[in-house]
Amino acid sequence: MIIAILALQGAFEEHQKMLQKLGVDSFLVRNLSDWNQPKDGLIIPGGESTAMLRIAKDENLLEPIREEIEKGLPVFGTCAGMILLAKEVDNDDRSRLATMDITVHRNAYGRQLGSFYVESDFKGIGTIPMTFIRAPYICKVQEGVDVLSTLDGHIIAAQQGNQLVCSFHPELNDDIRVHEYFVKRIAANRK
Ligand code: GLN
Repeated sequence: MIIAILALQGAFEEHQKMLQKLGVDSFLVRNLSDWNQPKDGLIIPGGESTAMLRIAKDENLLEPIREEIEKGLPVFGTCAGMILLAKEVDNDDRSRLATMDITVHRNAYGRQLGSFYVESDFKGIGTIPMTFIRAPYICKVQEGVDVLSTLDGHIIAAQQGNQLVCSFHPELNDDIRVHEYFVKRIAANRK
């Protein structure tokens, strides 16, 4: 198994370290020729969605990535990655990958005091550490989206078919279980 990690901006190296801990190979995607390598899944990291989108457009990556996700490539988007995957963002109208039937609110916890840590429940895993950095949350899901975690009444993790998203940064703590969850989903998908 080999997983592509979008490495235009943000916390991509930390995701690569998590996959290394799981013994899973990965490669970084900075341009189209990186993207065209064979892969079994994609991670879109946290960072700044506006910067990521600008670079992705300059590199002509948006359309090819969208096509693969629509064909069923498993994808895991964290924080800004979740924003890129959302069909709707209620406070941003930039064009995105827009493959997942969720409505997201950017910088949902405020810009200044928006970073915090909690331990909370993730469906199918248990209590996990969650680091939020100027995070978005999901305000609405359409039919077919499975809610995996909520915090204070807001959805912070969900999945729909081949797509998995969370508001927080699982790559910034030592707990590998969310990455393991994604890898297991890919393995099940390949059978
Ligand atoms: N606030 C960022 C955005 O809107 C996301 C923050 C993050 O990925 N940690 O793109």
